[in-house]
Amino acid sequence: MDENVRWHRRQLMEAAAAALEKNGFPTALFDSRQEAVAHLLTTASAADSIGFGGSMTLAELGLPERLQEAGKKTLVHGRAGLSPEARRQVMQEQLGCDLFFTSTNALTLKGQLVNIDATGNRVCAMVFGPKRVIVVAGANKIVADLESALRRVKEVACPPNARRLNFDTPCAKTGRCTDCNSPQRICRITTIIERRTRATDLQVCLINEDLGY
Ligand code: SF4
Repeated sequence: MDENVRWHRRQLMEAAAAALEKNGFPTALFDSRQEAVAHLLTTASAADSIGFGGSMTLAELGLPERLQEAGKKTLVHGRAGLSPEARRQVMQEQLGCDLFFTSTNALTLKGQLVNIDATGNRVCAMVFGPKRVIVVAGANKIVADLESALRRVKEVACPPNARRLNFDTPCAKTGRCTDCNSPQRICRITTIIERRTRATDLQVCLINEDLGY
């Protein structure tokens, strides 16, 4: 990444972190994925059961595999070969895990976390259930405000996600959202986490790289 772009991203990360902290979310900043992964593995060492929201960011960091290799009980509902019942069971176990890792579709310079989900398991676990939640995001997820966040989700995050999952939606074919009524529509619930919820220790880890969609 160009040094000036890296500098700009770092300024945005610091501004977002200040706003997140003000809203009750402890936030750690990292200049590289290697530093972030080392920190996350150390943080996860105290947890026995670790859940993962569906996330390209976490997959790109190799976090589920690293923690599996470390002997942790990893709860990954997207694992190949799971039946629909087994997948649902894993999602339910995620709600009671010690530590839940997820990314976010967008985060704002006002310190809000914005997500759109299809099943709802990911956004549910972000607000209540797991003892601790760590949101891991690349600086590419930072936007100015709520309006930009919602636009980012529809214009940047959803089309490649729908295509990756092979869903029959307009965005997976044209790359653009038509606010569809497709049976496979992935936009079914929108959450805006504005402040730390009372029973969930939610922390944010921001990385100065492009990660996920
Ligand atoms: S509403 Fe439909 S077209 Fe728009 S992003 Fe969601 S799934 Fe894609």
